[in-house]
Amino acid sequence: MFKLSALELRDLFLKGGASAEEIARHFLERVSAIDPKIGGFLQLLPERALRQAQTLDQKRSRGEPLGKLAGVPIGIKDNIHIQGELTTCGSKFLENYRAPFDATLTKLLEEEGAILIGKTNLDEFAMGSTTGHSAYQKTRNPWDLERIPGGSSGGSAAVVSARLCPIAFGSDTGGSIRQPASLCGVVGYKPTYGRVSRYGLVAFGSSLDQIGPFANRVSDIGLVMEVIGRHDAQDATSLPLPQESYLTQFDGNLKGIKIGALSNFLEGIDPEVGENFQRSLQLLRDQGASIVPIELPMLKYALAVYYILAAAEASTNLARFDGIRYGKRSPRANTLREIYTLSKEEGYGAEVKRRILLGTYVLSAGYQDAYYRKAQKVRTLLQRDYAAAFSKCHAIAMPVSPTPAPLIGALADPMQEYLADIYTVSANLVGVPGVSVPAGFSKENLPIGLQLQGPQQGDVQLLRIAESFERIHCYTDAIPEVAK
Ligand code: GLN
Repeated sequence: MFKLSALELRDLFLKGGASAEEIARHFLERVSAIDPKIGGFLQLLPERALRQAQTLDQKRSRGEPLGKLAGVPIGIKDNIHIQGELTTCGSKFLENYRAPFDATLTKLLEEEGAILIGKTNLDEFAMGSTTGHSAYQKTRNPWDLERIPGGSSGGSAAVVSARLCPIAFGSDTGGSIRQPASLCGVVGYKPTYGRVSRYGLVAFGSSLDQIGPFANRVSDIGLVMEVIGRHDAQDATSLPLPQESYLTQFDGNLKGIKIGALSNFLEGIDPEVGENFQRSLQLLRDQGASIVPIELPMLKYALAVYYILAAAEASTNLARFDGIRYGKRSPRANTLREIYTLSKEEGYGAEVKRRILLGTYVLSAGYQDAYYRKAQKVRTLLQRDYAAAFSKCHAIAMPVSPTPAPLIGALADPMQEYLADIYTVSANLVGVPGVSVPAGFSKENLPIGLQLQGPQQGDVQLLRIAESFERIHCYTDAIPEVAK
Protein backbone atom coordinates (compact mmCIF):
# COMPACT_ATOMS: atom_id res chain seq x y z
CA MET A 1 0.00 0.00 0.00
CA PHE A 2 2.80 2.43 0.80
CA LYS A 3 3.89 2.50 -2.84
CA LEU A 4 0.48 3.70 -4.01
CA SER A 5 -0.37 7.30 -4.73
CA ALA A 6 -3.16 8.91 -2.73
CA LEU A 7 -5.49 8.51 -5.72
CA GLU A 8 -4.68 4.81 -6.02
CA LEU A 9 -5.03 4.27 -2.30
CA ARG A 10 -8.42 5.97 -2.24
CA ASP A 11 -9.60 3.82 -5.15
CA LEU A 12 -8.32 0.71 -3.40
CA PHE A 13 -10.52 1.61 -0.44
CA LEU A 14 -13.54 2.60 -2.55
CA LYS A 15 -13.41 -0.65 -4.53
CA GLY A 16 -13.13 -2.77 -1.40
CA GLY A 17 -9.48 -3.82 -1.83
CA ALA A 18 -8.71 -2.71 1.70
CA SER A 19 -10.65 -1.32 4.63
CA ALA A 20 -9.84 2.14 5.93
CA GLU A 21 -8.77 0.52 9.17
CA GLU A 22 -6.28 -1.72 7.35
CA ILE A 23 -4.89 1.30 5.55
CA ALA A 24 -4.59 3.32 8.76
CA ARG A 25 -2.91 0.45 10.61
CA HIS A 26 -0.52 -0.21 7.72
CA PHE A 27 0.74 3.36 7.77
CA LEU A 28 0.80 3.69 11.56
CA GLU A 29 2.92 0.52 11.73
CA ARG A 30 5.25 1.85 9.05
CA VAL A 31 5.69 5.01 11.06
CA SER A 32 6.56 2.99 14.19
CA ALA A 33 9.08 0.91 12.25
CA ILE A 34 10.75 3.58 10.11
CA ASP A 35 10.23 7.00 11.65
CA PRO A 36 12.62 6.45 14.60
CA LYS A 37 15.42 6.68 11.98
CA ILE A 38 13.98 9.81 10.37
CA GLY A 39 12.22 11.78 13.09
CA GLY A 40 9.58 13.24 10.80
CA PHE A 41 6.63 13.02 13.20
CA LEU A 42 6.45 14.92 16.46
CA GLN A 43 3.29 13.17 17.44
CA LEU A 44 1.07 10.39 16.13
CA LEU A 45 -2.71 10.45 16.37
CA PRO A 46 -3.58 6.72 16.37
CA GLU A 47 -6.90 7.07 18.18
CA ARG A 48 -8.14 9.85 15.96
CA ALA A 49 -6.96 8.02 12.85
CA LEU A 50 -8.60 4.72 13.78
CA ARG A 51 -11.82 6.45 14.78
CA GLN A 52 -11.99 8.16 11.39
CA ALA A 53 -11.11 4.88 9.64
CA GLN A 54 -13.90 3.01 11.40
CA THR A 55 -16.39 5.75 10.49
CA LEU A 56 -15.30 5.43 6.86
CA ASP A 57 -15.66 1.64 6.91
CA GLN A 58 -19.18 1.95 8.33
CA LYS A 59 -20.13 4.53 5.72
CA ARG A 60 -18.81 2.31 2.97
CA SER A 61 -20.71 -0.72 4.23
CA ARG A 62 -23.92 1.33 4.35
CA GLY A 63 -23.30 2.61 0.84
CA GLU A 64 -23.12 6.25 1.97
CA PRO A 65 -21.15 8.80 -0.07
CA LEU A 66 -17.40 8.87 0.64
CA GLY A 67 -15.19 11.88 0.08
CA LYS A 68 -12.49 12.68 -2.44
CA LEU A 69 -9.79 11.73 0.07
CA ALA A 70 -11.55 8.73 1.58
CA GLY A 71 -9.03 6.49 3.32
CA VAL A 72 -5.97 8.64 2.55
CA PRO A 73 -3.54 9.02 5.49
CA ILE A 74 -2.21 12.56 5.87
CA GLY A 75 0.43 14.25 8.04
CA ILE A 76 0.01 17.85 9.23
CA LYS A 77 2.81 20.29 10.05
CA ASP A 78 2.69 21.12 13.72
CA ASN A 79 1.85 24.78 13.19
CA ILE A 80 -1.62 23.93 11.86
CA HIS A 81 -4.51 23.28 14.24
CA ILE A 82 -6.33 20.02 14.73
CA GLN A 83 -8.95 20.62 17.38
CA GLY A 84 -8.07 19.11 20.74
CA GLU A 85 -4.55 18.11 19.69
CA LEU A 86 -1.25 19.79 20.54
CA THR A 87 0.04 22.53 18.23
CA THR A 88 3.62 23.06 19.41
CA CYS A 89 5.04 24.91 16.38
CA GLY A 90 8.25 23.05 17.22
CA SER A 91 8.64 25.38 20.22
CA LYS A 92 9.02 24.73 23.95
CA PHE A 93 6.87 27.81 24.42
CA LEU A 94 3.82 25.91 23.17
CA GLU A 95 4.68 22.46 24.49
CA ASN A 96 1.32 22.14 26.24
CA TYR A 97 -0.85 24.19 23.88
CA ARG A 98 -3.93 22.39 22.57
CA ALA A 99 -5.76 23.75 19.55
CA PRO A 100 -9.19 25.05 20.56
CA PHE A 101 -10.53 24.77 17.00
CA ASP A 102 -9.83 23.09 13.68
CA ALA A 103 -7.93 24.85 10.95
CA THR A 104 -10.09 25.19 7.85
CA LEU A 105 -7.54 22.91 6.18
CA THR A 106 -7.91 20.04 8.63
CA LYS A 107 -11.68 20.42 8.72
CA LEU A 108 -11.95 20.19 4.93
CA LEU A 109 -9.60 17.21 4.80
CA GLU A 110 -11.51 15.20 7.40
CA GLU A 111 -14.84 16.06 5.79
CA GLU A 112 -13.53 14.52 2.57
CA GLY A 113 -12.57 11.32 4.38
CA ALA A 114 -8.84 11.90 4.96
CA ILE A 115 -7.24 10.12 7.91
CA LEU A 116 -5.02 12.52 9.87
CA ILE A 117 -2.26 10.35 11.29
CA GLY A 118 0.14 12.76 12.95
CA LYS A 119 1.80 16.14 13.36
CA THR A 120 5.14 16.69 11.67
CA ASN A 121 8.33 18.36 12.80
CA LEU A 122 9.35 21.88 11.74
CA ASP A 123 11.79 24.66 12.46
CA GLU A 124 10.48 26.55 15.47
CA PHE A 125 7.55 28.73 14.31
CA ALA A 126 8.50 27.78 10.72
CA MET A 127 11.63 29.95 10.83
CA GLY A 128 14.48 28.22 9.07
CA SER A 129 15.47 26.02 6.16
CA THR A 130 16.79 22.92 7.93
CA THR A 131 14.23 21.73 10.52
CA GLY A 132 17.25 21.90 12.83
CA HIS A 133 15.58 24.75 14.75
CA SER A 134 12.93 22.45 16.20
CA ALA A 135 13.06 22.47 20.00
CA TYR A 136 12.19 18.76 20.03
CA GLN A 137 14.13 16.61 17.61
CA LYS A 138 16.20 16.40 14.47
CA THR A 139 14.60 15.26 11.25
CA ARG A 140 16.86 13.40 8.85
CA ASN A 141 16.71 13.26 5.08
CA PRO A 142 15.44 9.80 4.02
CA TRP A 143 17.90 9.83 1.08
CA ASP A 144 20.89 10.23 3.40
CA LEU A 145 20.35 10.16 7.14
CA GLU A 146 23.38 12.39 7.74
CA ARG A 147 21.75 15.20 5.79
CA ILE A 148 19.01 17.72 6.49
CA PRO A 149 15.55 17.32 4.97
CA GLY A 150 15.37 21.07 4.41
CA GLY A 151 12.84 23.25 6.16
CA SER A 152 10.92 24.59 7.70
CA SER A 153 8.38 21.88 6.73
CA GLY A 154 11.14 19.23 6.80
CA GLY A 155 9.06 16.74 8.78
CA SER A 156 6.26 16.75 6.20
CA ALA A 157 8.69 16.39 3.28
CA ALA A 158 10.58 13.55 4.97
CA VAL A 159 7.50 11.49 5.88
CA VAL A 160 6.14 11.69 2.33
CA SER A 161 9.55 10.82 0.90
CA ALA A 162 9.79 7.78 3.22
CA ARG A 163 6.25 6.75 2.20
CA LEU A 164 4.95 7.05 5.76
CA CYS A 165 1.87 8.75 4.30
CA PRO A 166 1.12 9.68 0.69
CA ILE A 167 0.32 13.31 1.50
CA ALA A 168 1.44 15.80 4.13
CA PHE A 169 0.91 19.52 4.57
CA GLY A 170 3.31 22.32 5.24
CA SER A 171 3.36 26.11 5.21
CA ASP A 172 5.51 28.20 2.89
CA THR A 173 6.49 31.74 3.91
CA GLY A 174 9.69 31.92 1.90
CA GLY A 175 10.18 28.43 0.52
CA SER A 176 9.36 26.07 3.37
CA ILE A 177 7.37 23.70 1.17
CA ARG A 178 9.35 23.87 -2.07
CA GLN A 179 12.86 23.65 -0.60
CA PRO A 180 12.33 20.55 1.59
CA ALA A 181 10.37 18.94 -1.26
CA SER A 182 13.38 19.45 -3.51
CA LEU A 183 15.87 18.11 -0.96
CA CYS A 184 13.72 15.05 -0.16
CA GLY A 185 12.72 14.21 -3.74
CA VAL A 186 8.98 14.80 -3.47
CA VAL A 187 6.52 17.25 -5.03
CA GLY A 188 5.84 20.38 -2.95
CA TYR A 189 3.31 23.02 -3.83
CA LYS A 190 2.86 26.60 -2.64
CA PRO A 191 -0.46 27.83 -4.02
CA THR A 192 -1.28 31.43 -4.97
CA TYR A 193 -1.41 33.59 -1.83
CA GLY A 194 -5.00 33.42 -0.60
CA ARG A 195 -5.92 30.27 -2.51
CA VAL A 196 -5.87 28.07 0.61
CA SER A 197 -7.28 29.37 3.86
CA ARG A 198 -4.74 30.30 6.55
CA TYR A 199 -7.37 30.03 9.29
CA GLY A 200 -5.84 27.85 11.99
CA LEU A 201 -2.27 28.20 10.72
CA VAL A 202 -0.10 29.87 13.37
CA ALA A 203 1.02 33.07 11.63
CA PHE A 204 4.68 33.78 10.82
CA GLY A 205 4.61 36.42 8.07
CA SER A 206 0.94 37.03 7.36
CA SER A 207 1.43 38.65 3.95
CA LEU A 208 3.65 35.75 2.84
CA ASP A 209 2.30 32.58 4.53
CA GLN A 210 0.53 29.97 2.48
CA ILE A 211 -0.45 26.39 3.33
CA GLY A 212 0.28 23.73 0.73
CA PRO A 213 0.70 19.99 0.12
CA PHE A 214 3.53 17.50 -0.34
CA ALA A 215 2.97 14.31 -2.35
CA ASN A 216 4.84 11.83 -4.50
CA ARG A 217 2.84 12.72 -7.61
CA VAL A 218 1.63 15.99 -9.04
CA SER A 219 -1.78 14.36 -9.59
CA ASP A 220 -2.12 13.89 -5.83
CA ILE A 221 -1.38 17.60 -5.40
CA GLY A 222 -4.19 18.32 -7.88
CA LEU A 223 -6.49 16.01 -5.96
CA VAL A 224 -6.01 17.82 -2.64
CA MET A 225 -6.15 21.26 -4.26
CA GLU A 226 -9.65 20.38 -5.45
CA VAL A 227 -10.56 19.96 -1.78
CA ILE A 228 -8.71 22.84 -0.12
CA GLY A 229 -8.43 25.48 -2.88
CA ARG A 230 -11.56 27.37 -1.99
CA HIS A 231 -12.76 30.59 -0.46
CA ASP A 232 -13.07 30.75 3.31
CA ALA A 233 -14.91 33.54 5.09
CA GLN A 234 -12.76 32.93 8.20
CA ASP A 235 -9.65 34.25 6.41
CA ALA A 236 -9.86 37.89 5.32
CA THR A 237 -7.18 37.32 2.67
CA SER A 238 -8.86 34.26 1.17
CA LEU A 239 -9.52 34.74 -2.55
CA PRO A 240 -13.25 34.87 -3.32
CA LEU A 241 -12.94 32.41 -6.20
CA PRO A 242 -14.88 29.27 -7.07
CA GLN A 243 -13.26 25.86 -6.58
CA GLU A 244 -11.48 24.63 -9.66
CA SER A 245 -11.01 21.22 -11.16
CA TYR A 246 -7.38 20.21 -11.57
CA LEU A 247 -7.25 16.54 -12.48
CA THR A 248 -9.31 16.87 -15.65
CA GLN A 249 -6.82 19.46 -16.94
CA PHE A 250 -3.76 17.22 -16.63
CA ASP A 251 -3.20 16.13 -20.21
CA GLY A 252 0.60 15.93 -20.56
CA ASN A 253 0.54 18.44 -23.40
CA LEU A 254 3.05 21.30 -23.41
CA LYS A 255 2.52 22.46 -27.01
CA GLY A 256 2.36 26.23 -27.13
CA ILE A 257 3.53 26.61 -23.54
CA LYS A 258 6.23 29.23 -23.00
CA ILE A 259 8.58 28.76 -20.08
CA GLY A 260 10.53 31.83 -18.97
CA ALA A 261 14.11 31.34 -17.87
CA LEU A 262 16.53 33.93 -16.50
CA SER A 263 19.73 34.34 -18.42
CA ASN A 264 22.05 35.38 -15.63
CA PHE A 265 20.71 34.20 -12.30
CA LEU A 266 22.63 30.96 -12.05
CA GLU A 267 25.88 32.29 -10.62
CA GLY A 268 27.09 30.72 -7.40
CA ILE A 269 24.97 27.64 -7.85
CA ASP A 270 26.29 24.10 -7.30
CA PRO A 271 27.40 22.90 -10.77
CA GLU A 272 25.34 19.71 -10.52
CA VAL A 273 22.20 21.73 -9.75
CA GLY A 274 23.00 24.01 -12.69
CA GLU A 275 23.42 21.07 -15.08
CA ASN A 276 20.27 19.45 -13.81
CA PHE A 277 18.40 22.72 -14.40
CA GLN A 278 19.61 23.01 -17.99
CA ARG A 279 18.65 19.40 -18.62
CA SER A 280 15.17 20.03 -17.21
CA LEU A 281 14.74 22.96 -19.61
CA GLN A 282 15.72 20.65 -22.46
CA LEU A 283 13.17 18.06 -21.33
CA LEU A 284 10.46 20.71 -21.32
CA ARG A 285 11.54 21.70 -24.84
CA ASP A 286 11.45 18.07 -25.97
CA GLN A 287 7.86 17.95 -24.86
CA GLY A 288 6.84 20.89 -27.00
CA ALA A 289 7.36 23.87 -24.69
CA SER A 290 9.49 26.79 -25.81
CA ILE A 291 11.98 28.47 -23.50
CA VAL A 292 11.90 32.26 -23.59
CA PRO A 293 14.41 34.59 -21.94
CA ILE A 294 13.01 36.83 -19.20
CA GLU A 295 14.44 39.51 -16.92
CA LEU A 296 13.63 40.07 -13.26
CA PRO A 297 15.96 42.96 -12.43
CA MET A 298 14.72 43.30 -8.84
CA LEU A 299 15.26 39.64 -8.02
CA LYS A 300 18.72 40.36 -6.68
CA TYR A 301 17.10 42.26 -3.80
CA ALA A 302 14.50 39.61 -3.00
CA LEU A 303 16.41 37.97 -0.16
CA ALA A 304 17.12 41.28 1.58
CA VAL A 305 13.50 42.39 1.15
CA TYR A 306 12.20 39.05 2.39
CA TYR A 307 14.33 38.98 5.54
CA ILE A 308 13.24 42.51 6.45
CA LEU A 309 9.53 41.97 5.85
CA ALA A 310 9.30 38.40 7.18
CA ALA A 311 11.11 39.41 10.37
CA ALA A 312 8.95 42.53 10.77
CA GLU A 313 5.74 40.53 10.44
CA ALA A 314 7.07 37.76 12.68
CA SER A 315 7.95 40.20 15.43
CA THR A 316 4.39 41.52 15.56
CA ASN A 317 2.75 38.10 15.12
CA LEU A 318 4.80 36.62 17.93
CA ALA A 319 3.95 39.40 20.39
CA ARG A 320 0.93 37.34 21.47
CA PHE A 321 3.17 34.66 22.95
CA ASP A 322 3.70 36.38 26.27
CA GLY A 323 3.08 33.75 28.94
CA ILE A 324 -0.40 35.19 29.57
CA ARG A 325 -2.55 34.89 26.47
CA TYR A 326 -0.44 32.17 24.92
CA GLY A 327 2.68 30.30 25.81
CA LYS A 328 4.11 28.64 28.86
CA ARG A 329 4.67 31.06 31.73
CA SER A 330 8.09 31.10 33.34
CA PRO A 331 7.97 29.60 36.85
CA ARG A 332 10.67 32.14 37.83
CA ALA A 333 8.45 35.16 37.09
CA ASN A 334 7.20 37.27 40.01
CA THR A 335 6.19 40.53 38.36
CA LEU A 336 4.24 41.32 35.18
CA ARG A 337 7.41 42.43 33.46
CA GLU A 338 9.12 39.18 34.42
CA ILE A 339 6.23 37.17 33.04
CA TYR A 340 6.88 38.74 29.64
CA THR A 341 10.64 38.74 29.65
CA LEU A 342 11.40 35.43 31.37
CA SER A 343 8.68 33.49 29.53
CA LYS A 344 9.97 34.68 26.17
CA GLU A 345 13.57 34.13 27.17
CA GLU A 346 12.90 30.54 28.25
CA GLY A 347 10.31 29.71 25.61
CA TYR A 348 11.99 30.73 22.36
CA GLY A 349 15.06 29.27 20.67
CA ALA A 350 17.90 31.37 19.26
CA GLU A 351 16.61 31.70 15.69
CA VAL A 352 13.19 32.96 16.78
CA LYS A 353 14.82 35.51 19.10
CA ARG A 354 17.05 36.65 16.23
CA ARG A 355 13.98 37.24 14.01
CA ILE A 356 12.12 39.15 16.73
CA LEU A 357 15.15 41.38 17.34
CA LEU A 358 15.61 41.98 13.62
CA GLY A 359 11.90 42.62 13.11
CA THR A 360 11.51 45.10 15.97
CA TYR A 361 14.64 46.88 14.77
CA VAL A 362 13.41 47.39 11.20
CA LEU A 363 10.04 48.58 12.55
CA SER A 364 11.48 50.93 15.17
CA ALA A 365 10.69 54.62 14.80
CA GLY A 366 14.16 55.61 13.65
CA TYR A 367 14.60 52.89 11.03
CA GLN A 368 11.13 52.24 9.68
CA ASP A 369 11.58 54.38 6.58
CA ALA A 370 15.07 53.13 5.85
CA TYR A 371 14.25 49.44 6.07
CA TYR A 372 10.59 48.44 6.34
CA ARG A 373 9.12 51.04 3.97
CA LYS A 374 11.97 50.74 1.52
CA ALA A 375 11.54 46.98 1.45
CA GLN A 376 7.82 47.37 0.74
CA LYS A 377 8.65 49.62 -2.21
CA VAL A 378 11.12 47.13 -3.64
CA ARG A 379 8.50 44.40 -3.16
CA THR A 380 6.16 46.39 -5.41
CA LEU A 381 8.89 46.75 -8.04
CA LEU A 382 9.50 42.99 -7.92
CA GLN A 383 5.77 42.42 -8.44
CA ARG A 384 5.96 44.62 -11.55
CA ASP A 385 8.94 42.62 -12.83
CA TYR A 386 6.95 39.44 -12.45
CA ALA A 387 3.93 40.93 -14.20
CA ALA A 388 6.14 41.93 -17.13
CA ALA A 389 7.70 38.46 -17.24
CA PHE A 390 4.30 36.75 -17.22
CA SER A 391 3.23 38.82 -20.21
CA LYS A 392 5.84 36.79 -22.12
CA CYS A 393 5.51 33.31 -20.64
CA HIS A 394 3.12 30.91 -18.92
CA ALA A 395 5.55 29.81 -16.21
CA ILE A 396 8.98 30.73 -14.89
CA ALA A 397 11.52 27.96 -14.32
CA MET A 398 14.16 28.21 -11.61
CA PRO A 399 16.16 25.91 -9.41
CA VAL A 400 14.73 25.43 -5.90
CA SER A 401 17.81 25.14 -3.72
CA PRO A 402 21.32 26.17 -4.82
CA THR A 403 22.67 22.80 -3.58
CA PRO A 404 21.37 19.29 -2.92
CA ALA A 405 20.70 18.48 0.75
CA PRO A 406 23.54 19.78 2.99
CA LEU A 407 24.97 17.72 5.84
CA ILE A 408 23.36 18.23 9.24
CA GLY A 409 25.11 21.20 10.85
CA ALA A 410 26.54 22.57 7.60
CA LEU A 411 24.24 25.61 7.65
CA ALA A 412 25.07 26.54 11.26
CA ASP A 413 25.83 30.16 10.27
CA PRO A 414 22.43 31.92 10.00
CA MET A 415 23.63 33.96 7.02
CA GLN A 416 24.45 30.78 5.08
CA GLU A 417 21.04 29.41 5.92
CA TYR A 418 19.30 32.60 4.71
CA LEU A 419 21.28 32.65 1.45
CA ALA A 420 20.01 29.18 0.58
CA ASP A 421 16.51 30.70 0.16
CA ILE A 422 17.57 32.73 -2.85
CA TYR A 423 15.31 30.97 -5.38
CA THR A 424 12.20 30.57 -3.26
CA VAL A 425 11.42 33.84 -1.45
CA SER A 426 10.35 35.83 -4.50
CA ALA A 427 7.21 33.75 -5.10
CA ASN A 428 6.00 34.67 -1.60
CA LEU A 429 6.85 38.35 -2.00
CA VAL A 430 4.85 38.42 -5.23
CA GLY A 431 2.09 36.05 -4.08
CA VAL A 432 2.43 33.70 -7.05
CA PRO A 433 2.16 29.91 -6.96
CA GLY A 434 5.31 27.78 -7.09
CA VAL A 435 5.92 24.06 -7.29
CA SER A 436 9.00 21.91 -6.83
CA VAL A 437 8.99 18.74 -8.92
CA PRO A 438 11.63 15.99 -8.64
CA ALA A 439 14.06 16.40 -11.55
CA GLY A 440 16.76 13.83 -10.92
CA PHE A 441 19.64 13.01 -8.60
CA SER A 442 23.16 14.23 -7.95
CA LYS A 443 26.16 11.90 -8.28
CA GLU A 444 25.80 11.22 -4.56
CA ASN A 445 22.21 10.08 -5.17
CA LEU A 446 20.65 13.19 -3.59
CA PRO A 447 17.40 14.50 -5.10
CA ILE A 448 17.29 17.75 -7.06
CA GLY A 449 14.03 19.58 -7.77
CA LEU A 450 12.91 21.87 -10.56
CA GLN A 451 10.87 24.91 -9.56
CA LEU A 452 8.07 26.28 -11.73
CA GLN A 453 6.25 29.47 -10.81
CA GLY A 454 3.04 30.66 -12.41
CA PRO A 455 1.05 33.90 -12.45
CA GLN A 456 -1.31 34.70 -9.58
CA GLN A 457 -4.39 32.46 -9.64
CA GLY A 458 -2.83 30.35 -12.37
CA ASP A 459 -2.66 27.32 -10.06
CA VAL A 460 -4.38 24.87 -12.40
CA GLN A 461 -2.21 25.67 -15.39
CA LEU A 462 0.98 25.63 -13.33
CA LEU A 463 0.25 22.17 -11.96
CA ARG A 464 -0.71 21.01 -15.45
CA ILE A 465 2.76 22.00 -16.67
CA ALA A 466 4.42 20.35 -13.65
CA GLU A 467 2.44 17.17 -14.22
CA SER A 468 3.51 17.08 -17.86
CA PHE A 469 7.13 17.41 -16.78
CA GLU A 470 6.65 14.57 -14.29
CA ARG A 471 5.21 12.30 -16.99
CA ILE A 472 8.48 12.20 -18.91
CA HIS A 473 10.52 11.73 -15.79
CA CYS A 474 8.91 9.45 -13.28
CA TYR A 475 11.62 10.31 -10.75
CA THR A 476 8.70 10.40 -8.39
CA ASP A 477 8.68 6.60 -8.30
CA ALA A 478 12.13 6.39 -6.71
CA ILE A 479 12.01 5.28 -3.07
CA PRO A 480 14.83 5.87 -0.57
CA GLU A 481 16.52 2.76 0.85
CA VAL A 482 15.34 3.43 4.42
CA ALA A 483 11.72 3.23 3.24
CA LYS A 484 11.90 0.03 1.24
N1 GLN B 1 13.69 29.67 5.19
C1 GLN B 1 12.81 30.79 5.20
C2 GLN B 1 12.88 31.46 6.55
O1 GLN B 1 13.59 31.02 7.37
C3 GLN B 1 11.41 30.38 4.86
C4 GLN B 1 10.67 29.77 5.98
C5 GLN B 1 9.25 29.44 5.61
O2 GLN B 1 8.89 29.43 4.43
N2 GLN B 1 8.44 29.19 6.62
O3 GLN B 1 12.24 32.42 6.80
